[in-house]
Formats: sequence, C-alpha cells, structure tokens
Amino acid sequence: MSSSEASADLLPAETEAALERAVDSHNRHEQLFSVRAANIKQSAVRDVFDISIRPGLVSLAGGSPYLKSLPLEDLGRTAQTIIAEHGLEALQYGGGQGMEQLRELVCEVMAAEGIEGADPDDIVITTGSQSAQDVAAKVFCNPGDVILCEDPTYVGALNTFEAYEVDVVAVPMDDDGLIPDELERTITALEAQGRAIKVLYTIPSFNNPSGITMAADRRQRVVDICRAHNILVLEDNPYGMLRFDGEPLRPMRADNPHDVIYLGSFSKIFAPGVRLGWALVPKHLYRRFYLACEAVVLCPSPLTQMLVTAYLTEYDWRGHLHTMRSLYRERCDAMLGALAEELPEGVHWTTPDGGFFVWVTLPEGIDTYPLLYKAIDAGVVFIPGAAFTPSDEPSNKLRLAFSAVAPEDIVEGVRRLAPILRAAIEE
Ligand code: PMP
Repeated sequence: MSSSEASADLLPAETEAALERAVDSHNRHEQLFSVRAANIKQSAVRDVFDISIRPGLVSLAGGSPYLKSLPLEDLGRTAQTIIAEHGLEALQYGGGQGMEQLRELVCEVMAAEGIEGADPDDIVITTGSQSAQDVAAKVFCNPGDVILCEDPTYVGALNTFEAYEVDVVAVPMDDDGLIPDELERTITALEAQGRAIKVLYTIPSFNNPSGITMAADRRQRVVDICRAHNILVLEDNPYGMLRFDGEPLRPMRADNPHDVIYLGSFSKIFAPGVRLGWALVPKHLYRRFYLACEAVVLCPSPLTQMLVTAYLTEYDWRGHLHTMRSLYRERCDAMLGALAEELPEGVHWTTPDGGFFVWVTLPEGIDTYPLLYKAIDAGVVFIPGAAFTPSDEPSNKLRLAFSAVAPEDIVEGVRRLAPILRAAIEE
C-alpha cells in the first residue's frame, strides 16, 4: 500500500489535500536553497541545550554566564526610566555604528583589558560577537577561501564561516595555545596549493572549548606570521576580563592596531540577552565592515544600548566583574577537584586560568559522541568534542562548562559522568 493510500484511509479529504500541497511545496522549494544554506548546520550546543533544560539533569553543556548576581531590581528600574524618559529614542531606529556614548565607554572597557587609546570612531556596535564573525566572513571571504582557526575552536564561529562556503582549517594548539610553527607550516602548505588564506580566527584567552590561553610571548609571533602572509587576525575575546587571578592578558590588538580586528562582547561581562558586542576595526578596513554590519541589522538595538550604557555609568561594573571572577574560579575549582577525584586513569583535562570551560581528553580511539546518550540517561550532559573542529571527525574529547552550575551540582555531574567514561575505557 502506498503512503497516499494509507493516508487516504486515515485522514479526512481536506487534510490529505493540505498534506499533498505541503509535500509538493517542500519538493519544489527544496531546489531553491542556495549552496550556502546546505552548509548551515544546527549547532551541537543548541541540540544539547534543548535536552539540558530537563529537570533533574546536571548540565555541564551550555556555556551560559551566571546572571543571578546582577542587580536585577535596580536594572528593572533603570529600564523603566529609559523607556519613560528616553522612550522616543530608545524605541526608534538609531545609527548603524552604535551610540557614541556607548562606543566611548567601550574604549574604557578595552583600556581595562590593555587596549589603550582606541578611537570610538573605529568601533561598530554589533549584535554580539556572533554577528561580527558573520560580517567578517562576509566581507573578506569568497567561496573556497580559507579561514584558519585553532583546533579546537568555537562551534558558533565554525557554523558561521562554513555558511559562507569557506574552508575552515584548524591549526593545532598545545597548553600554551596556538602553536606558531604549526601555523607557519599550515600556511605554507596551503599557499603551495594556491589557496587564498584571508583570516586567522583566534580566541587567545580561555578558548572555547578548551579553556587554553595563548601564552603572552606567542601572541606577537602569531600576528607577525599572519602579517608576513597578508592574513588578517580576527581576535575574539569575550572571556578576556574573566581571568580568575591577576590582570587580563594583553590582547593581540593592543600592539597591532593595523592587523587585528578585535571582537568584544557584553554577553559574558554583563548579559547575553542584550545581544550587544563590538568590533574594533583598523581604520583602513572600517568603512566596508561597518556598511556590512548596517546592511544586516540597520542598527544595533538603541534600547539595549541604553541599558548597557546605564550599566557602565551608573553601576559598579568592575566590582561585579570581580565578584564573577571569584564565583567562576570557585566553580572551576569544584570541577577540577571532582575530576581529579572521580575520573579514571588515562583521562586528562585542561586547567583554565579563566573563562567557562574545561576540555577533557579520553584515550585515543574513544568517540565521545555516543557517550552523550549514556550520560543523558545518567542525568548529566556535556558537549562532544567533534562539534569544535571543522572536520566533524569522531573525537576523544569533550567540553565541560562550569559557569552556570552551582559547585555541588558540578561535583554531582562529574560523579554521574565518571562511570560512563570508565566503562568506555574498559570496553
Ligand atoms: N565567541 C565565543 C568564543 C563564544 O564563546 C561566544 C558565545 N558562547 C560567542 C563568541 C558569541 O558571543 P555573543 O553572545 O557576543 O554573540
């Protein structure tokens, strides 16, 4: 029996007709998708995010910031004042570059990270760092061009770059971050094949997913190599201010204003729901970058720009950051302690100095993807390592996030995970 005969038995005639029309439209419209659209994948992190909100599950998957220590009631009053007193501006379209006062404040934030004297006119306020990554790929890359990244790297950037039919090539890291010699070797090999390498995308501080930080002495070397090969550095630094101890490490942009596009974000130092970040773009690249931003969003939200402006001027944002750094350090310590206590021999992990993530490596040959299903049954979730490399090949790594989970739940989550890893090793 054909499926239409089966449905004719089961469905009223008008429902069947509607179904046929839907199938027909699907079949015709499927051909309309661009080649680019086929490259747009659902992020593994999003998949797991949907599961991880189930009650009782310990989610070590999503890298969400902890928001409960924000002064929510006061911020509520501030939001109310913004609408009541500046509503016509807050709810109207604004300039594509972003508000001048906020761009000036962004310069202060960056000065606290080591980027002194940036010009507010070189900044474009973006819809988070995510949209700036998209604009960078759009502005610099043709199909088939190469973007270099760290191995592993941020899954959201991979998805964005691949949507532009770019070849993303991952360069190995060690405990001190991207390895300059490997970068040089990869570039030389690609150039020998006649490939156009446009951009190095790097998360030098507390890389997502590995938690690894690029050593200070490597940073300049990496920029120098890129400069020598006419490759732009796209420095994504959403976690830089979340170093547990000491001052933030000097960003690559600080000493290289002409060769680095610097991406910042309010998502981790304030709140991701405002959907605001920024790009500090070398003057000679600024106009096209900014025009591309404007073409996508017209303007960043004036309402949330005003909220962030108020947060940076009326609140003790530095004090809040200080609190968050201690809180994340406590959670990271809870995770590292539990891993040392619970995980079997043969498993290794990184020891981050900041950020949200620990990267766990199992013995060679174990694929962590199937282990996720076992982990869900045991009441804990993580992100399998394959998500964070362009190859999508099976990976013996996994990412654990400690940012949004209370220390006792982190310990419980690791306890639930340990027997699954042990069984995988003993199998
Ligand atoms: N870059 C990295 C390295 C990230 O980890 C994230 C979010 N997890 C983003 C960019 C996206 O940030 P935003 O919310 O600013 O778009």
